[in-house]
Amino acid sequence: MHLAQRVKALTPSSTLAITAKAKELKEQGYDVIGLGAGEPDFNTPQHIIDAAVQSMNEGHTKYTPSAGLPALKKEIVKKFKDDQGIDYDPSQIIVASGAKHALYTLFQALLDEGDEVIIPTPYWVSYPEQVKLADGIPVYIEGKEENEYKITPEQLMSAITDKTKAVIINSPSNPTGMLYSEEELRALGEVCLNHNILIVSDEIYEKLVYGEFKHVSIAEISPELKEQTIIINGVSKSHSMTGWRIGYAAGNKDLIQAMTNLASHSTSNPTTTAQYGAIAAYSGSQKMLKDMQEAFENRLNIIYEKLIAIPGFSCIKPQGAFYLFPNVKVAAELTGFQNVDDFSKALLEDAMVAVIPGSGFGAPNNIRLSYATSLELLEKAVDRIHQFVEKNM
Ligand code: PLP
Repeated sequence: MHLAQRVKALTPSSTLAITAKAKELKEQGYDVIGLGAGEPDFNTPQHIIDAAVQSMNEGHTKYTPSAGLPALKKEIVKKFKDDQGIDYDPSQIIVASGAKHALYTLFQALLDEGDEVIIPTPYWVSYPEQVKLADGIPVYIEGKEENEYKITPEQLMSAITDKTKAVIINSPSNPTGMLYSEEELRALGEVCLNHNILIVSDEIYEKLVYGEFKHVSIAEISPELKEQTIIINGVSKSHSMTGWRIGYAAGNKDLIQAMTNLASHSTSNPTTTAQYGAIAAYSGSQKMLKDMQEAFENRLNIIYEKLIAIPGFSCIKPQGAFYLFPNVKVAAELTGFQNVDDFSKALLEDAMVAVIPGSGFGAPNNIRLSYATSLELLEKAVDRIHQFVEKNM
């Protein structure tokens, strides 16, 4: 079969590859613990499920407007007002089939061939592929470990060319769990304003922030930065609704209209039932958000201490999301592996713990462990990794 160049050039998701291998071992009867999950391990709250079922029983089973149900957009507008203190008109919002699809549609609507998008490393695996699928060029800047994996305004400035169209800011970050402070965002925003670069602010982990840290959206810092930014968010992580596929984008009206035109020829609209579920997610009780955030924080505090006690592991304590991203280069060396990819492979095949090698995130010295699983399994998994390292030193 002769396939298009654009798909031949795609890098398959490393996250999914490890998850598939772990599943295969499990099916063969091995006791594998998977720490690869990119989704909360909690059920979607019952009132959301009930609202979706009710909407179907009431006959809401037809197409909706391409940019989403007006009632859902109204809830999203309210969410931005309540959480960020910013005003959007409903015409500045598009609901999509997940935040991932909102981003995909954005790059399709924004980029011409050869346009550059600045992507800080470590990055979420889909950003570079989505940019390439829109004929754009990903330009990487290294978020250095000594700067908590965050980029500086100087680095941003030096990566800008006359082809630069946008920069992606993901705070809290997948995979590092780091958050940009208001001050840091203001400084990065200044550079973007000076060079007229669109800020793509992926805030999907907004509600999962720990300790004294606080999520700030770059769009809430000033009216100018709001104009310069397109926010990406959704209910997948906040309301444990990954399978429902509801995300959204908020920003410049013309850009949102262009994305809506594209959506009208691709998805037509995000699934109607899921949109009714999302209305309930935003209009109903938000108690589960707090419960989930507390459960994640408790796990993080326990597991972090155990993780950094492993020889050759160093890790900045995450401030948000549900991932740990230790640098394990020394551990890989101590145990005689050429690189962290091989070390990760051995962790799966020998210690029976599935972690995601950092190479897929543009950070080859690290591994990503998700703590979206029970504390009992997490403790067992980290003990196994510890024993594996000590045994092979
Ligand atoms: N952005 C980041 C940083 C993510 O980690 C994810 C999911 O893993 C998404 C976007 C996509 O979320 P959704 O499930 O809404 O498509």
